[in-house]
Amino acid sequence: MEQYKTIKLKINCNKTDLNKLFQCNRESALIWNECLKFNQLNYKDNKKLHTTRELVDYTKTIDVQTICANSKQIIGKKIFDAYNAISKARKVGRTDLNYPWKEKNFYPTEWSYQYLFPNYEKNEIRLTTSQYIGEDGKNHNGQQIRMKFKMKIPNNIKLLKLIYKNGFYAVISYLVEVEEREIISNNIASIDLGEIHAITSIDNNNNQLIITGRKIRSLKQFRNKKIAELTSKIDKCKNGSNQRKKYKKALNYLKAKTERQVMDCIHKLTRMYTNWAVEKGISAVYVGDVTNIELHVKSSKIVNQKLNQWDYGKILHYLEYKLGLEGIKLIKVNEAYSSQICPTCGEKTKPKGRVYKCSNCESEYHRDIVGAWNILNFNTDYNLKLPEANIKYLRIA
Ligand SMILES: [Zn+2]
Repeated sequence: MEQYKTIKLKINCNKTDLNKLFQCNRESALIWNECLKFNQLNYKDNKKLHTTRELVDYTKTIDVQTICANSKQIIGKKIFDAYNAISKARKVGRTDLNYPWKEKNFYPTEWSYQYLFPNYEKNEIRLTTSQYIGEDGKNHNGQQIRMKFKMKIPNNIKLLKLIYKNGFYAVISYLVEVEEREIISNNIASIDLGEIHAITSIDNNNNQLIITGRKIRSLKQFRNKKIAELTSKIDKCKNGSNQRKKYKKALNYLKAKTERQVMDCIHKLTRMYTNWAVEKGISAVYVGDVTNIELHVKSSKIVNQKLNQWDYGKILHYLEYKLGLEGIKLIKVNEAYSSQICPTCGEKTKPKGRVYKCSNCESEYHRDIVGAWNILNFNTDYNLKLPEANIKYLRIA
């Protein structure tokens, strides 16, 4: 099994090449800006966005000196991906996210492996620049940019991204061969995703785990409070005033920061779950997939505070990835009504609050454990015993 890894290395090069690196990211920004306008225009005129193909073709018409055609095409694809991701997110209620609109002065240039040439002995990479028509009227390859590294460059490089942060760095994506793992065990678990308890899980040895999502909720609540404050300040400012610009900048910063913090939480809780699953020797996990349930966006306030389908999508994605690396399969299943069926008598009760109390036999359970238990019971042949309270609680610091 092959797996992508990335490494960030500081670039050393001579002054001529350094100028070329600046030029590359300046030209990439130009292409980004042009593609953005191209897309916006189409949306205005035809109410639709350009396809990847159209955007990539359009990049060919933009005249630049340094970056090669392939690097230009990558930007076209990136514009498409950026719009597409936002479009999908907005459909599941993330109306707070906007399409890219800002013009850039610099944009990271990328080279795919066919256009970069590593020298492992010298620890160098040469980058392809654009072709030019020489005095002989023929096409010539541009002079390559030569970069030196102090740290060892990896084998099997697939992509190099040029970023600037007090100096140029190469973010290198490369492939490594990792051992395929398969866990041989009869222990299977299930997960119920929830708003307050992000992950509730039970396995067929009756190990029960709850990882709370309270941290994410409080991050969102804090963000919403601040957004409200800033918005009212912005409304009081004159259009175009410096103060207004300052507040708007603060608003964007706040949104981006919360986004990063929420992602960090999602990474931590999926890591926690994976560690638990490894510790319990679990070989497969059934999860109730809530990401396709139609969302009724009645109040964006509610959507913005709780874990939503956007978050669930990310949680599922990272669970699949992290569990997969440990050889644990993640199987998505429909979870309709799973939290309503009584584990004792099988009758349906709509739970109120955190405790599940059956209206038929009066058994009492933890609500989320009922959901997870039902998912496990529906999808496996094990004749599970009724879940006794045996819950381990974890939360993200
Ligand atoms: Zn019952």
